[in-house]
Amino acid sequence: MQPVFPGTVSAAGEPATLGVMGGGQLGRMFVHAAQRLGYFTAVLDPDPHSPAGLVSHHHIQTGYSDAEGLAQLSALCAAVTTEFENVPAGALQTLAATRPVAPGAACVAIAQNRIEEKSHFVACADVSGVTCAPYAVIESQAQLDVVPADLLPGILKTARMGYDGKGQVRVKNAAELAAAWAGLKGVPCVLEKLLPLKAECSVIVARGWNGDITGFAPQRNVHVDGILAVTHAYASNMPAALALRAQAATKSIANHIGYVGVLCVEFFVIDDGSEHGGLIVNEMAPRPHNSGHYTMDACDVSQFDLQVHAMTGLPLPQPRQHSPAIMLNLLGDVWFDAAGTDRTPDWQAVLALPGTHLHLYGKLHARPGRKMGHLNITGPDLASVKATAHQAAVILGLPGLDRL
Ligand code: ADP
Ligand code: MG
Repeated sequence: MQPVFPGTVSAAGEPATLGVMGGGQLGRMFVHAAQRLGYFTAVLDPDPHSPAGLVSHHHIQTGYSDAEGLAQLSALCAAVTTEFENVPAGALQTLAATRPVAPGAACVAIAQNRIEEKSHFVACADVSGVTCAPYAVIESQAQLDVVPADLLPGILKTARMGYDGKGQVRVKNAAELAAAWAGLKGVPCVLEKLLPLKAECSVIVARGWNGDITGFAPQRNVHVDGILAVTHAYASNMPAALALRAQAATKSIANHIGYVGVLCVEFFVIDDGSEHGGLIVNEMAPRPHNSGHYTMDACDVSQFDLQVHAMTGLPLPQPRQHSPAIMLNLLGDVWFDAAGTDRTPDWQAVLALPGTHLHLYGKLHARPGRKMGHLNITGPDLASVKATAHQAAVILGLPGLDRL
């Protein structure tokens, strides 16, 4: 496709406008990256207070499938991207009839459904060299009845709409599995074998319309209660051989479906008796990812910069990480004390620490578990980054300290 430059003036007499489906924090950081390059932006999200809508030139406040809203978005925008995977694939298809849309509807549809996603990973396994956890699809009582016993204990996951550990139930035996599936109202699910995790990591790549692909080194992620708590991003964060395999696998997973845009693939490192452990592919997100937020302060090109470059057909430079980094996720819990009373986190103390970069998403209300912001910590060496992260985590009362 012809590159879309910010200097290109649209019919409305504005610099080229880039659109994003969804107005959450990922959309907000995309908008900031696009605006830095001089683009105008348009966000489609029904919420009048959406974090991205509040900072965008245009905010179309309709549902994601609203024909009028989609028509407005395509009339305004030179290209459109998405910031969450549950945007209806049909809406992306509608937009794609008149505008470049990256990632495309077919790729997003795979990422929105764990059954399709796992089939994709299985189809790629020969090339990617990585398999997913043993699993069974459960869409009917007949499939439930023949679930192999060696998948238990396991995790039952809804095929759609799961995120941050939601829509998942851990089950030890067939009786618990049957009860859990009934509890999930019998919606399509996958049962995955519970694996002995040594660690978790993710890889973020960006692929262009011409097939060029670039990306970041893997980051190691620590989850608490199913939600990302800490990302470790530095050279020694995992064994080099595993890191190379994860990067190569992510590229083949993107190439296999002609993906265009930023893609994040999550992996498990499992204890398989080998020296470094085995690599298992978990899931993919068709967009920038929470685990890539450190790139905003520790790299010369961030994951959001790459999202802008990929969708507009600009070159995809190889990012360079110039500082070791740790990212601490800031959930709404930080805005409450132990007694459940509202408090303002002690930003004064946190920001007095060297190399702290605070990102807040402009959300008006804090709720436990709600992603409110993140704190990136960079420094001249890993020891100082770790020490600062530890101090910040203590000040903020963050979980997962033992694993910092
Ligand atoms: P989500 O869409 O909520 O991120 P995931 O499939 O990534 O769903 O699961 C959330 C977390 O649950 C993972 O990051 C991991 O810590 C744990 N988990 C998921 N699947 C397995 C598994 N098969 N074995 C062990 N732990 C798992
Ligand atoms: Mg996940």
